[in-house]
Amino acid sequence: MEQVTNSPEETRELGRKLGAQARPGQVYCLDGDLGVGKTVLAQGFAEGLGIEEPVNSPTFTILQQYEDGRFPLYHFDVYRIGDVSEMDEIGYEDCFYGDGVCLIEWAQQITEILPDDAIHIYIGKELEHGFDCRRIRVEGLE
Ligand code: ADP
Ligand code: MG
Repeated sequence: MEQVTNSPEETRELGRKLGAQARPGQVYCLDGDLGVGKTVLAQGFAEGLGIEEPVNSPTFTILQQYEDGRFPLYHFDVYRIGDVSEMDEIGYEDCFYGDGVCLIEWAQQITEILPDDAIHIYIGKELEHGFDCRRIRVEGLE
């Protein structure tokens, strides 16, 4: 599945649709450059899960957990991770293989521990089509 968005609102809406269809046990990997819209999509995704708390990039904490949706959301931002062993310290396995859904910004940093059936979302800027244009590709979602 591939979609082009032309505003943060459109990206948030795509995230909302994905979040509304999400099932416990799924791991969603979000990749794309800094400022491309990973967190915007994550905010929509959280809304789709029924989460009302504000969602931001957990850059300094790596993991932020939300419990007020249909099921738990584990929102990772692994941009600052130096080594995957830091993921062990966080206890990532309980999140990846637990009863909630995971969203991982910068998942390419931790490829060696991603589940085989992870869903991948790639976001890229399409500057030739405008400053706010993004191409969003979703892979592994049947
Ligand atoms: P990331 O988490 O990928 O580093 P953010 O989601 O924090 O990026 O920021 C994306 C920025 O790009 C926001 O300031 C947002 O308003 C802006 N933006 C402009 N156009 C879009 C779009 N089509 N989709 C998502 N964000 C957009
Ligand atoms: Mg972010």
